[in-house]
Amino acid sequence: MTALRLATDLDKVEHNTRVLVDRLAATGIRVTGITKAVLGSPEVAAAMLRGGACGLGDSRVPNLARLASHDRSPLRTLIRSPMLSQAGRVVAVADVSLNTEAAVLAALDRAASRQKRTHGVVLMIELGDLREGIALDDTPQAVRTVLGHSCLRLVGLGANLACQNGVVPDDENMGALTGLVENIEALHGICLDVVSGGNSANLSWALHTHDVGRIDELRLGEAILLGVDPLDRTPIPGLHTDAFTLTAEVIEVAIKPAQPWGDRAQAAFGEAPVRTSGGTVHQAILAVGRQDVDPAGLRPPPGITLLGMSSDHLVVDHGDHRVAVGDEIGFGVAYSALLRAMTSPYVTKIGHRRPATPKATHVPTPPQGPTRRPVPDIEVGGDAPAHAQ
Ligand SMILES: *Cc1c(COP(=O)(O)O)cnc(C)c1O
Repeated sequence: MTALRLATDLDKVEHNTRVLVDRLAATGIRVTGITKAVLGSPEVAAAMLRGGACGLGDSRVPNLARLASHDRSPLRTLIRSPMLSQAGRVVAVADVSLNTEAAVLAALDRAASRQKRTHGVVLMIELGDLREGIALDDTPQAVRTVLGHSCLRLVGLGANLACQNGVVPDDENMGALTGLVENIEALHGICLDVVSGGNSANLSWALHTHDVGRIDELRLGEAILLGVDPLDRTPIPGLHTDAFTLTAEVIEVAIKPAQPWGDRAQAAFGEAPVRTSGGTVHQAILAVGRQDVDPAGLRPPPGITLLGMSSDHLVVDHGDHRVAVGDEIGFGVAYSALLRAMTSPYVTKIGHRRPATPKATHVPTPPQGPTRRPVPDIEVGGDAPAHAQ
């Protein structure tokens, strides 16, 4: 096992899922667990399912293939519009996909017919965030298109907000989706199974509105994994915000001047941050870089300050912590750091689960100061889709 590793506390993921599933159940909303930030990790998916998620969703075909090879039954949804060139693979690995394009629907129908399957379709509706979505007025035509394909099944309608332009889910845009569902049902004499209101950014609306209308499902990734509301990245009460820890090894320790010297130009990644302090800093370098993690989403333990990061080096001021070469330091991660760390082939992925003994005492520790003892863990994330593509 390499020192550079991303550990997932699967019990915390399960807990976060359960809390959200229970809170939303009161409103009649089910949860689809979204695994794209963890590359379709079967272990994380299993934790979401134990926590009560009714199905799984991912934006990438290789991730869904990874889930399909581990999980027997749960419903798998492709949450990014399928590539026309991948229609056959989409039908093979996903039960349902979110769609907006007539050409793609035709290709999915042909692929489903060839594979002797029925493929479920959720039509995505544009509600103002201006990413994927069919205009409200064009929806009846899109519905007719789906209904006209014999190997497609119209599962429902959905929407996605807050991703491209930060448009906040509210009674107005969610009400528009409910209104559209009712119109479509009346117009076509059908009953839609799923009205998928959105992602983690919908939680605050769903839990505080007086009426969720016809919304009966949310697709939740970030809120489950990181315990924060993506609208302002504040912690959601009752959820763990430290299910993931990135641990890296110290490769140089020195007391260095706080100020660089010599003429200054750009650094490896543009302008270096201005250093204001004088005197010296207790500097340590860790063997982790921008190739492995986004420094903007890296949360150092208390008493440790990030000074800079290049492709392969993270420079910190370790303050009063005693740090030696070979020590390890654990960091918390925000969404951007989680995504990149999961995607880096240099970061070993590890999952913890509390042993199922009556006296369970092993609670994985949150990010803390340097440690000298590498914790022995089981490596569980072996077959990353990076190798499967
Ligand atoms: C990423 C994504 C989600 C999940 O978003 P979170 O903010 O992680 O909950 C849901 N739906 C779609 C279409 C997405 O692209």
